[in-house]
Amino acid sequence: MVSLVGGVPPQLDGVEVPSYDRSGVTVGIVHFGVGGFHRAHQAMYVDALMNEGEALDWGICGVGVLPGDRRMQEVLTAQEGLYTLVEKQPDGSLRPRVIGSIVEYLFAPDSPEAVIEKMAAAGTRIVSLTITEGGYTIDQVTGEFDAEDPAVRADLAAGAVPATVFGLVTEALRRRRERGLPGFTIMSCDNIQGNGDTAARTFAAFARLKDAELATWIEENVGFPNSMVDRITPATSPEDTARLAEEFDLEDGWPVVCEPFTQWVLEDHFTAGRPPFEDVGVQLVEDVVPYELMKLRLLNAGHQALGYLGFLAGHRYVHEVAGDPLFARFLRAYMDHEGTPTLSPVPGVDLDEYKTTLIERFANPGVADTLARINFGSSDRISLWVLPVIRHQLEHGGELERAAAVVAGWARYAEGVDEKGEPIDVQDRLADTLVPLARTQRENPTAFIENTAVFGDLARQERFREAYLWALNSLHDEGARATVEALVAR
Ligand code: NAD
Repeated sequence: MVSLVGGVPPQLDGVEVPSYDRSGVTVGIVHFGVGGFHRAHQAMYVDALMNEGEALDWGICGVGVLPGDRRMQEVLTAQEGLYTLVEKQPDGSLRPRVIGSIVEYLFAPDSPEAVIEKMAAAGTRIVSLTITEGGYTIDQVTGEFDAEDPAVRADLAAGAVPATVFGLVTEALRRRRERGLPGFTIMSCDNIQGNGDTAARTFAAFARLKDAELATWIEENVGFPNSMVDRITPATSPEDTARLAEEFDLEDGWPVVCEPFTQWVLEDHFTAGRPPFEDVGVQLVEDVVPYELMKLRLLNAGHQALGYLGFLAGHRYVHEVAGDPLFARFLRAYMDHEGTPTLSPVPGVDLDEYKTTLIERFANPGVADTLARINFGSSDRISLWVLPVIRHQLEHGGELERAAAVVAGWARYAEGVDEKGEPIDVQDRLADTLVPLARTQRENPTAFIENTAVFGDLARQERFREAYLWALNSLHDEGARATVEALVAR
């Protein structure tokens, strides 16, 4: 058995390893939120460039800011940043590749100063983010930065040692400005529509509360490209780690598993240069909006369309629901009649083919993505991916019954008990508000959607309200499968 703790492993049967000398790689990117997705996507693209002998001055320094990142620090520090990316093929076979582009990892709670100085260093030209949809601290109704968030308030206090991504990045930019260094690019790779614009708004809002002049400097000296990112990356299970060891003789403390498909469409708005991403298949475009809407409203909203109703009907994995012909038809009907009409033309993409491929990707049994992961953080996900479709369809007189049923499915799921009476572990930052509300909805059916912090005025929109109440009532009386059957039959 070969362990990654010993550095780049010798050639192993069936495992690709970095072909470059890692001791020559220098840090050009500081990345916040080194979870599964960053390791399956951006770090993989940078590694692919390095394998071509390019971008050796664009090594990645990972940063974790939350207590939960301690384990990532321990694993990556022990393995000198190395980890295995395991592609799961539809036939069940694995394609592992050791990634070497992360060359350092810092855990901010232990060493905020080191994190700030790493970003303030002249060699750092990109600070990238996968801090989840909730990480931007956006008030879902106003769309503005929530300066009342307790962690943000603590960082804004005079003399505070920064602990949030906003506090750390802003302090680094303040030092760069003071030292006469140029700004860097802040590149969000989270699943948020206009992720770069969102980051620009939130970092500017935080900086303005701290130092108005610095905020202006940031607006003038920091680029915030928008991007569309795509690669299904489920959480790594203990079985994944064990299978890598058994089949390939490779011991890795925390490998990453993902589907073979990968896509990255990126706006070419970089303040201080960028790796030649186009050499490894990244699409660099002027306007990413059409691609992003396509992905958020078909793939991401599509995941939500399967997540709650599928779970309630007894499924536990995405491939099980997507492979269930009834749910596949429901998903396709949502995409064709509700998601697609909200899109603008997407240059070079055949939408019909995109949707067919999506259902095939979801149905890949090798990926074994759990519905529990898809249903995690629903209040952010539904707000960003499903409610915009409903609002668009309300405004344009389009169909919305299926999306309304998805919201009702979430409300029913949030009751925290499934159709067999088993408990559901509702993982949501608003769970303390939403679960008690959902539990009153058999007596007061609009209780959940009257929560204006999530739904704004939707409860007063007659067409939505009617479709939602029909679905919720049907979920209570008939169950999820019968509700989906009725919707598909319409
Ligand atoms: P993960 O749970 O493996 O990692 C999430 C990381 O974000 C962790 O390091 C966590 O500490 C950090 N984080 C969370 N909240 C934060 C905050 N408030 N401030 C700073 N850091 C914070 O999740 P993942 O699968 O890597 O996904 C991360 C994000 O990537 C998603 O939320 C999504 O926006 C995007 N993404 C994921 C996928 C996927 O299939 N997993 C696909 C496309 C895009």
